[in-house]
Amino acid sequence: MKPLIIANWKMNPQTLEEAKALFNAVKNTKAIICPPFVYLSDLRASGAQDCFYEEKGAYTGEVSPLMLKNMGIKYVIIGHSERRKYFRETNEIIEKKLKAALKMGLKPILCIDKTSQISPDIKRNLIIAYEPLFAIGTGKACSLERAKKMRLAIRKVVGSKTLILYGGSVNSQNARGYLAQAGFQGLLVGGASLKSKEFIDIIKRTCYAE
Ligand code: PEP
Repeated sequence: MKPLIIANWKMNPQTLEEAKALFNAVKNTKAIICPPFVYLSDLRASGAQDCFYEEKGAYTGEVSPLMLKNMGIKYVIIGHSERRKYFRETNEIIEKKLKAALKMGLKPILCIDKTSQISPDIKRNLIIAYEPLFAIGTGKACSLERAKKMRLAIRKVVGSKTLILYGGSVNSQNARGYLAQAGFQGLLVGGASLKSKEFIDIIKRTCYAE
């Protein structure tokens, strides 16, 4: 099975023109691109970076899983460490978001840095992204040994059917190791997904490598 590659653009780029140019450069890779909400409809992307846990109503500024589903979104990142840090999202809030996304038939990508962040209630039908905090956006990628150890620990919790991805300072030089040596089934790529050439190189070296 081809690895699942997810691009998290975070709060980038700053204009729709730039977003279109980046999206058009990488769209043939079949990676799941998660742009900011404001660009979703223009780009017809298939992933989003977050969602709220209610379907509709008086929740100023929020975007519901129902809205995402109605736009054709298939994947949604939930519990990213930046949401936990800057927006104080707790495991309880994240669990509500996961349940709401699953109810809408979306595929949630739950970001964790420890296995205790996986709720025993909803460990099925998720995609898990192991993202060690020290590696996110720092250029200090996790060692393959440590990543593999964590992958095995996550596997014990989630069972054999759940996809487990690695995220944290992935680039074209280190990407393949996380799949071939550490045994992950895909990657969640932040900073490197904003540079089309680098991102396409990651895809070439992981999805089409011998
Ligand atoms: C991320 O945003 O999930 C991420 C892993 O970022 P980066 O690749 O920039 O470390």
